[in-house]
Amino acid sequence: MSVKRIDLNLCIGCKECYTVCPMDVFRFDSVAKKSVIAYPENCQSCGQCYLNCPGRSITIVNEMTGYSITSYRATTTARNAKSETTK
Ligand code: SF4
Ligand code: SF4
Repeated sequence: MSVKRIDLNLCIGCKECYTVCPMDVFRFDSVAKKSVIAYPENCQSCGQCYLNCPGRSITIVNEMTGYSITSYRATTTARNAKSETTK
């Protein structure tokens, strides 16, 4: 699995992905004011860039199926967070 895409139309240039990525995958294009996926081979599919992207412009894809896993990951994380607060 790997981070795959930044939809530049949705990216607002906040740099969150660049800041939170533990694997240094992103670089920031200061001219275009957008993040770019510079080192996708370093991605460990932790999901932090996706979960912290306010523009919803990042996708993480399962290489085997081509399907996005990010919706499942985000749903699961949100569900777990909710159940923690209701205990
Ligand atoms: S977190 Fe999302 S909106 Fe912010 S710079 Fe990265 S891709 Fe763009
Ligand atoms: S999924 Fe994790 S390791 Fe991969 S680019 Fe996003 S923050 Fe970096």
